[in-house]
Amino acid sequence: MREMAGGPVAARVEEEIRQRLREREARGKRPPLLAIVWVGEDPSSAAYIRAKEKAAQRLGIPTRLVRLPGDAGEGAIAQVVQDLSEDPEVTGILVQAPLPAGVDYEAVIRRLDPRKDVDGFHPLNAGKLFRGRPEMVPCTAKGILELLRYYEIPIRGKHAVVVGRSNIVGRPTAALLEQADATVTLCHSKTEDLPSLTRQGDILVAAVGSPHVIRASMVKPGAAVVDVGIRRKDGKLVGDVHPEVQAVAGALSPVPGGVGPLTVAFLMENVLRAAESLDPL
Ligand code: NAP
Repeated sequence: MREMAGGPVAARVEEEIRQRLREREARGKRPPLLAIVWVGEDPSSAAYIRAKEKAAQRLGIPTRLVRLPGDAGEGAIAQVVQDLSEDPEVTGILVQAPLPAGVDYEAVIRRLDPRKDVDGFHPLNAGKLFRGRPEMVPCTAKGILELLRYYEIPIRGKHAVVVGRSNIVGRPTAALLEQADATVTLCHSKTEDLPSLTRQGDILVAAVGSPHVIRASMVKPGAAVVDVGIRRKDGKLVGDVHPEVQAVAGALSPVPGGVGPLTVAFLMENVLRAAESLDPL
């Protein structure tokens, strides 16, 4: 079994970003500025935001953290997002999920300037992706495709099975795999006889969020398995894929150290892409 570690892939992506940032600077273009909107105190959000700030710092990309109290209502959050969208200094915006209960994330995201939508969650960006003209693509989905490409996993004509249909991971990953000419099956919690489908996957992407739900008996021998899930279990980070899958898979991404670093790297790539899209012609 080949391990598909994300670290070397993320390092390569970051090196390309550094190069593009240097070229921007040489051409006198302004540096990107990423605004991060954090509502409330959620501790897992704190960790994710720290990881994003650290990555930005590594690349020399300035960030602005905009904090709102947990009881800020939907209107106030949406207004902050709109103000940032209209702020000419800010080139990229992300709204850290989850938002407090009762706040409609979709309604907040609709106030984003789609060009500054570095998560790729605005409906216009989702629409462009599903029309086959991707611009700002959700970072984890992009990371999964890059991981497969880096480890030279054949995609064209292959059967890719994606488990999980969230707008953040499963759906955009399925779209990108289909656009890379895979035949795609998208599974979810209502799928009947999940193992009979996952066993058909030359590529299997698990984006469920349920520790060790993918067992060896569910995997086609030799398949490339991408484990997107991250959950804390007995103080350890674990994925959706049971360790016994190592004996069956041809290639497998570890948790931690698989898709995670790529998500952050492609977020930074989107930050740069957003700044480029705002450059005057
Ligand atoms: P989510 O919004 O909760 O979606 C989970 C999906 O899994 C849903 O589509 C759900 O089906 C499906 N599902 C749940 N139980 C299932 C089962 N027993 N069999 C088949 N499908 C099942 O989660 P998410 O945001 O996509 O995240 C998924 C996991 O990836 C989480 O562990 C998250 O932490 C992790 N993640 C990792 C990264 C990274 O960088 N590594 C980035 C993002 C997310 P329904 O639609 O029918 O409910």
